[in-house]
This record gives sequence, structure tokens and C-alpha cells, in this order.
Amino acid sequence: MKVFNFNAGPAMLPASVMERAQKEFCNYNNTGCGIFEHSHRGAAFQAVLDKTNQNIRDVYGVPENYDIVYIQGGASMQFAMIPMNLMQGAADFVDTGTWSSKAMKEAKAFGEVRLAASSKETKYDHIPDFSEWKLSDDASYVHITSNNTIYGTQYRTFPKTKAPLIADMSSDIMSRRVNVADFGMIYAGAQKNLGPSGLALVIIRKDLVERTPANVPTMLRYSTYTENDSLYNTPPTFGIYMIGLVTDWLKEIGGMEAIEKMNEEKAALLYNAIDASNGYFSTPVKKDSRSLMNVVFRLPTEELEAKFIKMATENGMIGLKGHRSVGGVRASIYNAMPREGVEKLVDLMENFRKNN
Ligand SMILES: *Cc1c(COP(=O)(O)O)cnc(C)c1O
Repeated sequence: MKVFNFNAGPAMLPASVMERAQKEFCNYNNTGCGIFEHSHRGAAFQAVLDKTNQNIRDVYGVPENYDIVYIQGGASMQFAMIPMNLMQGAADFVDTGTWSSKAMKEAKAFGEVRLAASSKETKYDHIPDFSEWKLSDDASYVHITSNNTIYGTQYRTFPKTKAPLIADMSSDIMSRRVNVADFGMIYAGAQKNLGPSGLALVIIRKDLVERTPANVPTMLRYSTYTENDSLYNTPPTFGIYMIGLVTDWLKEIGGMEAIEKMNEEKAALLYNAIDASNGYFSTPVKKDSRSLMNVVFRLPTEELEAKFIKMATENGMIGLKGHRSVGGVRASIYNAMPREGVEKLVDLMENFRKNN
């Protein structure tokens, strides 16, 4: 049976990418060995790195005054690296869920963490309206989480801020068009929309890299990565190679415009099924904050939720259990999830509602 993987992360990658990686696994480009058996300083890997950087620059529209680097430790390591390098006194944070809170927690060790806005009081069911944000004049940066993987909320637009805007885009990176120039830095753990886990993609404006205090260790300084093209030490070569394949795929299917349209359509199928169910399925998320990547919903009882998730698994739809902190159902429909998988889930929802 064909399995559709709705896991929140690590998540599925495009089938064609997985097949290409398999084909090249033992013999990359007729070199007689796999890409991750190659020296990171050899021509084969350098070509992979150059291509991957160029793909990201082209597909995502990254301007020349931004560097693209890969850093081990995932998005969580960035929670610490950002304040360590860029915080000069105080920074503003918008708290839209678990990941925002974790970023704030790390920053407290390096300066004053100011809460500019939060949706905590309503259980993180929306993105706070920009008009309510209390931004400070002397903030080093403003930190946001563009898509809240656990609560299923997403920024539809981004605010213009005086201080550089830094976005954790772990769960919606390269899923839609963004104007990179509106941000000081964009970062993302790779395992949702880009490739395997264990590394973060960091897109950082060149001038910010110069802020780092002298006492920050080499491996935790952004400049170590930007000045050495991510090759100061041995980078996660296999992960970078996989991001290369995923961005090749994005290019082939028509780039950000095409993937954005596909993602909007997939999400609409699910939200329409929820809205048309007369309250049988319901989502706590406010309409204008609904995530196109993580669709969270509830059934009338927890028993029915468990039965629904079990039935989905039996029908080849896995990974639908909501995060352990919130319960319910969560369908993660990142770039790689084909429309067919979403249609199958919607069919199951309709049949389940009729019979339960
Ligand atoms: C998954 C996720 C993270 C954590 O990523 P790691 O690579 O496991 O550190 C952080 N932020 C968001 C928004 C996420 O979805």
C-alpha cells in the first residue's frame, strides 16, 4: 500500500528526490562512491554545495547582500546562536507558541528579552495583529516564528520593523514567496521542507555578521560559516546534498509561485472539509491565522480522534496524531505532500463522519 506521511518532522521528502538519492547513493555522478564518502574539500562536493546555494538564491530570491550557510544543531541551536551573535542589550520577541518560547528562553542568557506580543492567553490560536505589537526603539532585532508547527498558525504577511526581523521558518521555509529583503535573517531546521534533520539553513544579511562579540567560540560565530562558505569544519555533507536535490525539484516544478499555489490548494481542501462538517471537525485556529503547512483539528471526542487516527493509519495515512502537548489531529502537508494524499485524507474524513 502506498503510504502518505503526514508527520510534522522529520517529514516526507518528494518521491522523485528520494528515488534520485537512492539511485546515486553508492555511485554519485559516476565517481564510484557516494557523495557523503567524498571529501568535503573535493570537487564533487564543492559542486554540490555551489549548486545548492545557487538553487536557494534563485528559487527563493535571496539578494546578493545575504549569505546562505548551513549550520549543525538544527533550529534549536539557532535559538542560542542568534542572541549570542546579534543581541546587543535587548531584543523584541513575539510569542506564538512552543518554539517562540524556546527561542526566548535561550535569549535570556544574553540580554533583555522583551515580549512585543503574544497569543498565549488564547492558547496560541492566532498571530497577534501587528497594530498591537509593542516594539522597542533600541531592540537589536525582532524575533518571530513564521509558522507554528504545533498550534497550526502562520503569518499571512510580515510586519515592517525598524530593527532587523529574524524569522524561524523551520516549518514553512520555501513553501511560498517571501521578500527576503524584509528580513535580517531567516533560519530553518531542514527536516520539514528541505531535507534530513540535524542542520539549519541560515540566510543572513551580511552586515549583521559583524556584530558578534569577541568571546563567542569559533563554531558558534556566524562569520565562521559565512567566511568559509560553510566549510570551516566538515559540514553535514549528506544533508546539504539532499537540500540540493529538493531545491532542484522545486526549480523543476516551477519555483515558489508554483509551490505556493499547490500549498494553498491542498490546505483549502482540508479547511473546506473541516468548515463543511457542521462542527464535527473543528479547528481552534482563527481563520486569518490558519497554517497552510500544519492543519490541526479536533473531533467531537478524544475516543473518536483515536479511532480516526487508527483508521487513517490502517489506510496508509500515517503521522496524524497532534503534538503531545495539544492532542487532536494534525495533518502536516509540507511541500512534498502530494495533493493525492490530501484528497485521500479528506475522503476518509467524510466517510468517518458519516459512519461515526
Ligand atoms: C521543528 C521546529 C524547530 C526545531 O527544530 P530542530 O531542528 O529540531 O531544532 C524549531 N522551530 C520550529 C518552528 C519548528 O517547527
